[in-house]
Amino acid sequence: MRKITIALSGNPNSGKTTVFNAMTGARQHIANYPGVTVEKKYGRIKHQGYDIEVVDLPGTYSLTAYSLEEIVARDFLVNERPDVVVDIVDASNLDRNLYLAVQFKELGIPLIIALNMVDVAEARGIMVEQEILSTLLGTPVVPTVARSRKGISALLDKAIEVVLNGQEWRPAIISYGTDIDRGLNEIEDIIKGAGAYDKRYPPRWLALKCMEKDNQILELIRGYPEISSAVEAICSKTSKHIMDTLEEEPEGIIADHRYGHIAGITKRSVKRRIESRLNVSDRIDKVLTNRIIGPLVMLVILYGIYEFTFWVSEGPVHWLEVFFGWLKGMVSHTIPAGILYSLIVSGIIDGVGGILGFLPLIMFMFFAIAIMEDSGYMARVAYMLDRLLRWFGLHGNSVMALIVSGGIAGGCAVPGVMATRTLRDPKERIATLLVVPFMNCGAKLPVFAMLIAAFFAKNEARMMFIFTLLSWSFALFAAKIIRSTVLKGPKTPFVMELPPYRLPILKGLIIHTWERTWQFIKRAGTFILAMSILLWAMMTFPGLPEKQTRAYEAQRVGVRDAFLALPEVKTMIKDEKGLEDLDELVNSYRQSMKGKVTSTEMLEKNPLFPLVKSIFSETHALSSAYLLYKVELAQIDGHQNQAMLKGTIAGRVGQILERITFAVGFDYRTNIALIGGFAAKEVVVSTLGTAYSLEEVDPDQSRSLSEKLREDSQWNPLVAFTLILFTMLYVPCMATVISIKTESSWRWAGFSMAFNLIAAFLVCLAVYQVGSALGLGG
Ligand code: GDP
Ligand code: MG
Repeated sequence: MRKITIALSGNPNSGKTTVFNAMTGARQHIANYPGVTVEKKYGRIKHQGYDIEVVDLPGTYSLTAYSLEEIVARDFLVNERPDVVVDIVDASNLDRNLYLAVQFKELGIPLIIALNMVDVAEARGIMVEQEILSTLLGTPVVPTVARSRKGISALLDKAIEVVLNGQEWRPAIISYGTDIDRGLNEIEDIIKGAGAYDKRYPPRWLALKCMEKDNQILELIRGYPEISSAVEAICSKTSKHIMDTLEEEPEGIIADHRYGHIAGITKRSVKRRIESRLNVSDRIDKVLTNRIIGPLVMLVILYGIYEFTFWVSEGPVHWLEVFFGWLKGMVSHTIPAGILYSLIVSGIIDGVGGILGFLPLIMFMFFAIAIMEDSGYMARVAYMLDRLLRWFGLHGNSVMALIVSGGIAGGCAVPGVMATRTLRDPKERIATLLVVPFMNCGAKLPVFAMLIAAFFAKNEARMMFIFTLLSWSFALFAAKIIRSTVLKGPKTPFVMELPPYRLPILKGLIIHTWERTWQFIKRAGTFILAMSILLWAMMTFPGLPEKQTRAYEAQRVGVRDAFLALPEVKTMIKDEKGLEDLDELVNSYRQSMKGKVTSTEMLEKNPLFPLVKSIFSETHALSSAYLLYKVELAQIDGHQNQAMLKGTIAGRVGQILERITFAVGFDYRTNIALIGGFAAKEVVVSTLGTAYSLEEVDPDQSRSLSEKLREDSQWNPLVAFTLILFTMLYVPCMATVISIKTESSWRWAGFSMAFNLIAAFLVCLAVYQVGSALGLGG
């Protein structure tokens, strides 16, 4: 039979020595730890016929490398690997004592909590619900009163049971906030990727210690030169970033989150008869996380954010629209019509410009999110949503992943997918991974904003609010389906962190806002630009066959000749050149009438001016004849442009898909946009921008894409609504699919694509068909 080693640990004065004595009686030995003067006490006992060695670790508050005691305790654990650690905690001072327990959890060593001094706790009106504590900590809890030897035998029984279960080391993953988590993920990947590291320590724990500037571990990492510089670079980058945004060292933030984790545990497992020491955060939380008021406040804040962002960004969005219009005008006056012109105007300005036009909106959204994150309110949102999520088979840790992905419009599913690493249970993790792409990430924002501006301009914030609630509903509903079919399994317990509230500092808010905004601009200027150009090319080539072009030209000549044949016109204009002069004069005169040009004297000197005069007098026959001539020409141009687009590579694919997508109201242009959107969701906007730009007849008439769609007969609010839903739900973008694959497997990445596409289509089919039947598609 094998020998069992139990290590006793705990804060000073938690009753460790008393427990040790109660276990071992007189059978104890005292020696020194190898090389250090710290005392090592150990005793041999027999219990239930097992041979047990009890080692008394030095009393510590923490497991960092700040003091000799802590280093001794830690080295003993990793070098000797005792079968189980018994952490003696003072039940009357639980929050403080659990700090050490949480660090054992982070290290992953099999752990038992001896809930000592329950007599003192009870006398002070503190009742610990040991079952809940045990579930939330994921650790057996045995209540003891060491002084009167109560519970000691049960403690030994439990120790034997744990050891017989043969539990592996399982480091608990705690979230330390998005910035630090990102750094930890990066370091963990580097350490794992290198393979050559000290296998006694779990990789994520090493990453955490590096981030905490633990000298002993940093020294250890320096022994692996192939990774040490990369690791240190990430540490100092994160550290600088945390200093800049929160004015605090990473160690401090990590400690905050550990205490937040503990607060989440004790909030549910400790009942105080007298709630004496409520701090400011606790008092705020009494209201903000109240069962009824809390969720209401949360919805009001969310709605407030949308009202705020649409309101403040209205002006800047309009200025950008004017700017892009002016830019197009500049280009049209400097570059002759042709392929280059088409590339710049239709491919780039109407494509990427359509996305960048919404930059102010996105920036203010990021700003609002930064306030929520930096103040600590986001953690409360997660705390409240947890109750809802569990019901749908997700885990409390799923909340943060969902929020990061765009739970409050404007996020990204890639870090959201990474954030699922905090989920332990593989089924809950995969389920979260699969629904995370339903959230409204920053890339979907321009799509929503453009369509909302076109068809729901009066209710912008309200629509955004509705779409947010819809995306959550779909995610939860899908999770429920997934969790009751392919990923059936039990729910696992969860601890929500409640870090203290902080007043956000302006510099921190600006940095966090700018980081995300810059990310967005960079994407638009590189990847999205490349995609826009690619799609422009696919919507431009091969172009119309010569024969068709000539047929359209012949139609135009016919219309012109008919106009030239009019008696009044015939006398004054002989040829096409004269017709062009007339058009130019009409335009100039129209400008002057609008008051844009002050003097009409110059125009009146023109020999063609009498004709213009007639055209502008409404009663004159020439007025309607000219209008008709212009409209007919525009129609021919329109038909030609449309025929051209339909004949291109993309146009043909888009039309083939129309056979299916007619059922949800999408035409070939939308289909092309949605194919492009697989690369990145913003591309839906840029592609529609390019498609409508290519079909546009009069480029001088600079209208925004929203205006063009509003005027197009193919479009109506129902189509727009359906397209927003489709964009929200269909296949995750390429980058997300790849990270799903990295975090799980190709199989799940493939499942995600198929599942989302089918879900999107079915939802949109129902919405569009019901909407049409109700006459909403008119
Ligand atoms: P250590 O510093 O962790 O080794 O703590 P000790 O074992 O020296 O205990 C500190 C004090 O708490 C001593 O006076 C113990 O008698 C007392 N003590 C230990 N366990 C209990 C308990 O369960 N209940 C009560 N009331 N006192 C205890
Ligand atoms: Mg002692």
